[in-house]
Amino acid sequence: MSEKLTSKMAMEMEDKYGAHNYHPLPVVLSKGRKAKVWDVEGKEYFDFLSAYSAVNQGHCHPKIVGAMVDQAETLTLTSRAFYSDALGGYEKFITNYFGYDKVLPMNTGAEADETALKLCRRWAYDKKGVKADKAKIIVCADNFHGRTITIISMSTDPESKSGFGPYTPGFIVIPYNDLDALADALKDPDVAGFLVEPIQGEAGVVVPQEGYLKKAYEMCHEKNVLFIADEVQTGIARTGKLLACDHEGVRPDILILGKALSGGVYPVSAVLADDEIMLTIKPGQHGSTFGGNPVAAKVAVAALEVVKDENLADKAQYLGEIFRKEMRSIDSDMVELVRGKGLLNAVVIRPKNGKTAMDVCLKMAENGVLAKPTHDHIIRFAPPLVIAEDELMEAVERIKKSILFFD
Ligand SMILES: *Cc1c(COP(=O)(O)O)cnc(C)c1O
Repeated sequence: MSEKLTSKMAMEMEDKYGAHNYHPLPVVLSKGRKAKVWDVEGKEYFDFLSAYSAVNQGHCHPKIVGAMVDQAETLTLTSRAFYSDALGGYEKFITNYFGYDKVLPMNTGAEADETALKLCRRWAYDKKGVKADKAKIIVCADNFHGRTITIISMSTDPESKSGFGPYTPGFIVIPYNDLDALADALKDPDVAGFLVEPIQGEAGVVVPQEGYLKKAYEMCHEKNVLFIADEVQTGIARTGKLLACDHEGVRPDILILGKALSGGVYPVSAVLADDEIMLTIKPGQHGSTFGGNPVAAKVAVAALEVVKDENLADKAQYLGEIFRKEMRSIDSDMVELVRGKGLLNAVVIRPKNGKTAMDVCLKMAENGVLAKPTHDHIIRFAPPLVIAEDELMEAVERIKKSILFFD
């Protein structure tokens, strides 16, 4: 391969040799720094996806990359057959950071969700006294928790779910943001947990009514049901607080983290809970070869330190207000609705002259802002939280220009 790689060549190769399980925007990235990325031809963009909120701390953060490189040169993987000198320190750090007794380290968000489901079932049998194989977990319509067979079994999205059966039983699906439906579902004594995204990210940044999480949490506790928060996308400063649940003062019984737990440099996920729950899983009953490996441990500590050192939660809160105000000021009937919290936002696009959210995203890419439609009429805007205010305003101008192009 002596020829210089062009974007066209890179896309053709992915198309020819890679499975067709994604539909990317036609942009081939080769470099990233803070809130910006560059393509193979050197064109500069603001990244308004942040790898689905994994890159909250900005691309290639030197402190996080430094921690990774140092550890990678020393010891990368031991498996959990042995102790490592990195894991305990990480476990102490993250449990203090979020205020839980214990952490169970995994790699991807889906694995952490699976872990939470297993923990919840085990707790139901060992502590709540649910009869063997009878435990049920309540989930919400339009959820997104990942791609495994069990997780798609609780999905209501036909694209994610159909054609992959048979499905895992044991889930009750209720509408999101519906406390009456939750009350009804909680009447079943075999219910062990309620798994919920504090804001539904993949569904299109759907923000529940104020008080929903707090009330749902209280209702679960009245029924001795675990409140399980999937904060894989909303957690780690994205919504203007360390956790989205913090907006309502809710402390989940089981907390699921991923994505920005590594600042996007490495797959790191985690499940946090107190002893009463976490210690129901005994040695040999769950695990992962890579979960809690020394590189992941060091990366996660650095990534969480950056969040506090750089005040990213307050930044997200402040910049989010500005962003939503600017989006709402766009004088176009294509802007149907603007919603979000912190720097997790969405604009609902009303199609015009056959032009949809995808057309707007392609125009934005041309103008140097990368974002992707979720469903066909919603654009999520989630830049790295390290974006400077003047950069945000520059990006806002480009977004406005792209939307107004179709007006
Ligand atoms: C992305 C995401 C997941 C899955 O994470 P993966 O690392 O892709 O497996 C789970 N839950 C939520 C809320 C997510 O946004």
